[in-house]
Amino acid sequence: MPSFVITEKCDGCKGQDKTACMYICPHDLMVLDKERMKGYNQEPEQCWECYNCVKICPQQAIEVRGYADFAPLGASVIPMRGTDSIMWTLKFRNGTLKRFKFPINLRPEGVSDPYAGMPEPNYDDIKKPGFFNFAID
Ligand code: SF4
Ligand code: SF4
Repeated sequence: MPSFVITEKCDGCKGQDKTACMYICPHDLMVLDKERMKGYNQEPEQCWECYNCVKICPQQAIEVRGYADFAPLGASVIPMRGTDSIMWTLKFRNGTLKRFKFPINLRPEGVSDPYAGMPEPNYDDIKKPGFFNFAID
């Protein structure tokens, strides 16, 4: 199920040009209705259900129905971000609460090196038949 906004909780990120949910959505689905100052998902059928908007909303105004493999039908799934961890609260239809806490990545931005430990590229390999997109003299 795609994300949806609980309009009573949404404050439109207090009228900022780009709301938190607009900033974080990898599919540019979240938009702000400037008349009502409420965010909403403009294309629910395109939603990846990635939970990014749910996690970042400062008002906890966005929800996504949990996947059936970890939350039974009718349960709500609420993430709460802390400084070093994230707490997931599952509330079942019968009122049962379950909480799961996980550490989050605290490395400063920009320190990750995606090529660390990788071998240097061999540019002669480009001339091999499998690399057919480049014509190198
Ligand atoms: S991030 Fe939350 S409070 Fe801000 S506009 Fe989106 S739904 Fe509303
Ligand atoms: S769940 Fe992910 S894809 Fe769907 S609206 Fe939120 S941020 Fe965008």
